[in-house]
Amino acid sequence: MTTYNVINAGQGDCVIIKPGDECRFCGKKLVIDLGSDDCDITKIIRQTDNLHIFFSHHHRDHLGGFRFFGGRLNQIKEITVPLYQNEIILIARAILSLKGINTSSDCGEFISELKDIVRRQADIVSLTRLNDSAPILSFAYEGRDFYDHIKCLNPPLQAATYDIMDNVRHAELFDLMRELFIESFADEMVLYIRAHIIGNGMNVDSQSYIDHFLFPNRDDREVLTPDVLSSKFNFVFSFIIDNLHLLRAFNANSNRQRMKKVYSKFLKSSHDVCTVLKTNFHDKTMLHTGDASKKVFYRLIDSGVDISADYLKIPHHGSKHNINGRIIDKISPKIAIISHDNGHFGSSPDPHPNKQTLELLKSRQIKILVTNDVVKNNVTVMSSSCGYKRNELEIISLFI
Ligand SMILES: [Zn+2]
Ligand SMILES: [Zn+2]
Repeated sequence: MTTYNVINAGQGDCVIIKPGDECRFCGKKLVIDLGSDDCDITKIIRQTDNLHIFFSHHHRDHLGGFRFFGGRLNQIKEITVPLYQNEIILIARAILSLKGINTSSDCGEFISELKDIVRRQADIVSLTRLNDSAPILSFAYEGRDFYDHIKCLNPPLQAATYDIMDNVRHAELFDLMRELFIESFADEMVLYIRAHIIGNGMNVDSQSYIDHFLFPNRDDREVLTPDVLSSKFNFVFSFIIDNLHLLRAFNANSNRQRMKKVYSKFLKSSHDVCTVLKTNFHDKTMLHTGDASKKVFYRLIDSGVDISADYLKIPHHGSKHNINGRIIDKISPKIAIISHDNGHFGSSPDPHPNKQTLELLKSRQIKILVTNDVVKNNVTVMSSSCGYKRNELEIISLFI
């Protein structure tokens, strides 16, 4: 028997998988996301457990719990991040380096969130470089298999849809960097572009670049072929070029409204390359979707990948923007799990979970399990009263 512990990690995700005795993963427990930074999930992890942690992406509600590991970092044996993690961090740093940022007004909430994302990356970078017993760092990408039980479906090896260099001359790109960004970051980006042109994208001669980036251990380096490196480069520049009007508008008048638009494009990009995993134990499958965007599911459906699953962790805490009838019919789950906090998400007009998502699931007779009791009608709150085990940290165990 395999146990999936779905943790009520506030407005965040955390699933801990304890494989059955016949399948010990070299003695590791699998943890998919660590919840938000106000939920100490280490309280429910035994000090003797060895962990393999998968981060679907680096937003606070999925990675925030990392801060509680402090004195227990030696328990982490492997960390798996999305293949495009470095590029997401580079985009976050690019936004923080926009010329308008220092004169911006009322953007503090976005700036501190972006700084947190960069800082969390730096924490993981230092952990993976700590000493000889530092955790292995690996990348999640489509086609990658872990332990013969976990298939990675997203991000694809090549996420960028076009080659920026087909349309823009190098000199123009250099000028654009100097137009948009403060000098030190523009210099760094010029080096990044030069490294790409001469074909050694991983060997940028800039300490600030290297300091922030995660480099995979072992055989994962082999996946970084020239085509993949090129796609990573184009992913960053696609963000800059596709959103150029927003970046320029922010530099011209750096107010909250304009930053909000840039920030929401950044969130969307993170969710496009969010890790999606399909686990399979005892012929029962579960799809772990993080905050994957609709674009992710459309790509998988169009490519013919089998995304069907018995259990579905609903993407993005039940937002209406990440799922619809076409997607749910392809996955065709019997049980949907929604991890969320309070039925609201900041000031968003799209509360989590959204009524529309709940209606969608109900219309298909899919059983809905939620991690807390804010939504009361026609859903099953996972608790001892309905047969699920729960303790003070609200662990909900599915025995499969
Ligand atoms: Zn997210
Ligand atoms: Zn989230």
